[in-house]
Amino acid sequence: MLRERSFFHRGGICCCMGEQALGWEELHGRAAALAAVLAGGSGPVLLYGPKSPDYLIALVGCLWAGRPYIPAGPHLPALRVAAMVRQSGAKTAVCITPLPQDATAGLTCIRLPQQGGEDYTLPPVSGDDVAYILFTSGSTGTPKGVMVTYANLDHFIEWFTGRPAIAGLYPHAVLNQAQFSFDLSVADLTYALFTGCTLELPVEDTPIHAMGSRAELAVMTPSFADCCLLEEQFTAKNLPCLQTVFFCGEPLRGSTVRRLWQRFPGLRVINAYGPTEATCAVTSAEITPALAQQEALPIGHDGGEAVEVLLDQDGRITLQGKSVAVGYLGGKRFSDRFPTGDLGRLENGLLWYIGRCDDQIKYKGYRIEPGDIEAAMTALPGVRQAVVLPRKDRFGRVISLRALAAAEDNVREDDLRRSLRQTLPDYMIPRQIAFCAALPITTNGKTDRSQAMQMADALWENNGTL
Ligand code: AMP
Repeated sequence: MLRERSFFHRGGICCCMGEQALGWEELHGRAAALAAVLAGGSGPVLLYGPKSPDYLIALVGCLWAGRPYIPAGPHLPALRVAAMVRQSGAKTAVCITPLPQDATAGLTCIRLPQQGGEDYTLPPVSGDDVAYILFTSGSTGTPKGVMVTYANLDHFIEWFTGRPAIAGLYPHAVLNQAQFSFDLSVADLTYALFTGCTLELPVEDTPIHAMGSRAELAVMTPSFADCCLLEEQFTAKNLPCLQTVFFCGEPLRGSTVRRLWQRFPGLRVINAYGPTEATCAVTSAEITPALAQQEALPIGHDGGEAVEVLLDQDGRITLQGKSVAVGYLGGKRFSDRFPTGDLGRLENGLLWYIGRCDDQIKYKGYRIEPGDIEAAMTALPGVRQAVVLPRKDRFGRVISLRALAAAEDNVREDDLRRSLRQTLPDYMIPRQIAFCAALPITTNGKTDRSQAMQMADALWENNGTL
């Protein structure tokens, strides 16, 4: 449905970024030329490059060829990209920019066609075929590849376009924030492909109020909105067409919404919820002025959502239905049900998010398993043990990442951080690392995080020595 629909758009601009504008006509020709090449092979395709209109062509080429794409780019360290390639068994890459040396092993790189090709006929795909593989942070230190099918995508876009604050839009454009390797981008990307409107990509270092945006709909994380609100020019005057913002990925606060309404009177605000494993988002609630009086906001409803939301007696959320992805690459299959690790409650027909029942965190909108960082730290020479200690504000929002490590005397904080940059993206590098002889443990042998936090606080107060 999404794939076939996107094949028939022709007129107008499909993607713009700064001065660059890509027409649907050009996208069609070049994506079809790429798809014709890709359709001759099989298996997943690594897409490598910075976010750009060309990246969209590569992605659409994969969708049309029926080859699962794995989005990656220079925002990820080369060794992390190499791990993704190894896990997926990808043999083909479409390179918008050259792949770093460390990630090229065993890959055939295809350049993006600059010209349109001959007529292309879409090869049929089954709804169960994998459309893309997104990697998320894994608690054991290996990123987890989530396999999302064409049927998942079709179900998502049907639900998304049916949200009351979206269904009534006649869009010129939709504004993107997230990298294509994060599942939040699936919302703006599929919306543009489905409706034929323009996907507006922000240029790094250009604030979105200075983009000359014509978007009626914006998709973003609450953290991003909070950053935008620091700029006085982030007002309806500079985003004159904006009617709806679709938030997802982390708790949205009433104060953020109230500040948005001061700048954008009448703006419709959707607070959506969902993990990568259930295709971007599965529940949502439109925020009313009455709801926005409180800091905590609902994330959905009791029924009528993209999936069934099952709550056990402890409030653990399991999602069941057509949005649930096939499973992890080389690992667990979900068979229609995904236990999220989130805790929630239902009250007066609304669904509320309470927190997590494990250590997973969200930092600046990014999903992080502390175990992922800890594994990267203990893999380094001289580091025996490590624990990540997120610092939280009074609302429970993570404001920075710190770590405590049991390490040899010659291990230096700066060197450690530099080495971590080889395997972890920037947002996963602890801002402060303290050292001790051994981490405190609980009676059942696990790291005692709360005692470690006290130890680390004492260390920092004393400039690193107890
Ligand atoms: P990701 O796979 O990166 O989309 O992250 C999914 C996780 O983000 C969920 O399991 C939740 O813990 C969190 N999350 C997503 N949306 C919301 C929301 N609206 N409010 C609170 N937490 C959210």
